[in-house]
Amino acid sequence: MAARGPAQDDVLIVGGSLVGLSAAAFLGHHGISATVVEKHAGTSIHPRAGYFHIGTMEAYRRIGLEPAIREASEEQFGPDGGINLVESLAGRELARFVDSINAGVEPYSACRRFFMTQQSLEPLLHRRAAELGADLHYRTELIGFEQFDDHVVAELRDLASGETWRTRAKWMIAADGNRSAVRQALNIAMHGPGLLSDSITIYFKADCRPWLDGRQLGVIYVANADQRGFFRFEAGGTRGFLAVNTLGDLSLPGATDVAGDTSPERCVALVRSAVGVPDLAIEIEDVATWKATAECAEAYRQHRVFLAGDAAHVVPPTGGFGGNTGVQDAANLAWKLAAVLNGEADETLLDSYEAERRPVGQLTVEQAYARYIRRVTPEEIGPDTPELLDELTMEIGQFYRSNAVAEGRREDEPACLHPDHTRGRPGARVPHAWLEDGRSTLDCAVNAPVWLAGPDAVPESGPYETVRLSPETAERCGIGPAGAMLARSDGFVACVVRAA
Ligand SMILES: Cc1cc2nc3c(=O)[nH]c(=O)nc-3n(C[C@H](O)[C@H](O)[C@H](O)COP(=O)(O)OP(=O)(O)OC[C@H]3O[C@@H](n4cnc5c(N)ncnc54)[C@H](O)[C@@H]3O)c2cc1C
Repeated sequence: MAARGPAQDDVLIVGGSLVGLSAAAFLGHHGISATVVEKHAGTSIHPRAGYFHIGTMEAYRRIGLEPAIREASEEQFGPDGGINLVESLAGRELARFVDSINAGVEPYSACRRFFMTQQSLEPLLHRRAAELGADLHYRTELIGFEQFDDHVVAELRDLASGETWRTRAKWMIAADGNRSAVRQALNIAMHGPGLLSDSITIYFKADCRPWLDGRQLGVIYVANADQRGFFRFEAGGTRGFLAVNTLGDLSLPGATDVAGDTSPERCVALVRSAVGVPDLAIEIEDVATWKATAECAEAYRQHRVFLAGDAAHVVPPTGGFGGNTGVQDAANLAWKLAAVLNGEADETLLDSYEAERRPVGQLTVEQAYARYIRRVTPEEIGPDTPELLDELTMEIGQFYRSNAVAEGRREDEPACLHPDHTRGRPGARVPHAWLEDGRSTLDCAVNAPVWLAGPDAVPESGPYETVRLSPETAERCGIGPAGAMLARSDGFVACVVRAA
């Protein structure tokens, strides 16, 4: 085997899609140049993820990507699309789940939810990761690895030349997707409801503008006699995809095996039925098969290897949790790895990654599953179907209990709670409030932890800068005029000091 590549990387990231690229950019922001290996020739060629949560935009805001994302998103989609359920685009609306994705968000965040195809987001992430020092290698596959006390040895293959070589890294992040070979090699099992359907996504061009009728809809669920699934449109309604999860009648044999027949005739028929126009002119661009699955890994780490994104949790797309949860994993892990590699923290800090992110992953699997049952196969609702938690709770209500938080979430509290109920509690996200200089409280600790202190708080000694809050802002943050909170650089509260 040829010797090639750097003798020692700090972090090797396996998988250069949404989560791997995000991890590389977040690490770069904290001064760590990661190496990314991706077996495909470039960034994603399919739209896939399209609905992005507030917490995701907040993470990208911290690395300076918000303006570019907002601009690109508004070129593709309306900024505030809704989510509904129809029997067909031309037919009856059966339910309206969300009128406008950003209704009610303003008091909670400086950021907004957005729609954007994964295939246009990934190049922005790639560029930012490279600007911040990441070393990105396409057509490069991880074919094996071995862990040692203080490093990992990875075996890589250049898929163009066939050449193989070994490289060392202090830490490895497996962002290699739902079939993660790294997770399998580590024998980490997945738990949860499991496979829900063998689904397909049909990418097509067709002029559907007459039936969209100017409506701003980011996701349109479809349920009729032929199918259950959802549309997402781009370019004003002339291009998009139809994801089909099941047949219309769940009692039919093979009802959940839509992927069993992906012939062009069937795909055209499915799109026509979902639009509700039997002779619609359609150009099928591509068809992807995938498994709608709900399960979470039983561990997020083994020694020097961390799982992130779909490698750690797989969910059906209902609710748009998959990619978003992965981006949050990456944001959580990046500053911790950087703190250890920069000598600012010892390795025990890394224990907090699994302690914080796995309970959130498990709850997310449960909630995505609950949304799938309620929106796609409601006849399967039963006494065991989990109650739905609201979107703000799931998006910015992560509530951590770990050694990176002093007196965080109690053991009997859920992994996500509405931000109104965790205001000023260690382990919760820092509440958003505008400061007099135009920044959000969430903008203060972007590079390093910062004390957010009420006007009467006694200054904290130690290495961290203090930002003084007005009495109103201190109240809004739940600490009062004499309290202070230490904001971590991922926007979560590490500890709170209250007046004696
Ligand atoms: C139809 C559909 C709609 C969706 N909608 C949404 C949505 O609206 N919002 C949302 O948040 N999520 C959504 N998702 C989910 C989202 O696409 C995934 O959660 C996201 O892509 C996960 O990113 P990842 O980087 O963890 O994994 P992946 O995107 O699967 O990427 C893993 C990468 O690792 C590479 N890789 C694998 N093995 C190796 C190896 N050995 N060596 C090198 N490279 C390797 C692969 O080539 C791949 O590029 C949707 C998914 C589908 C199918």
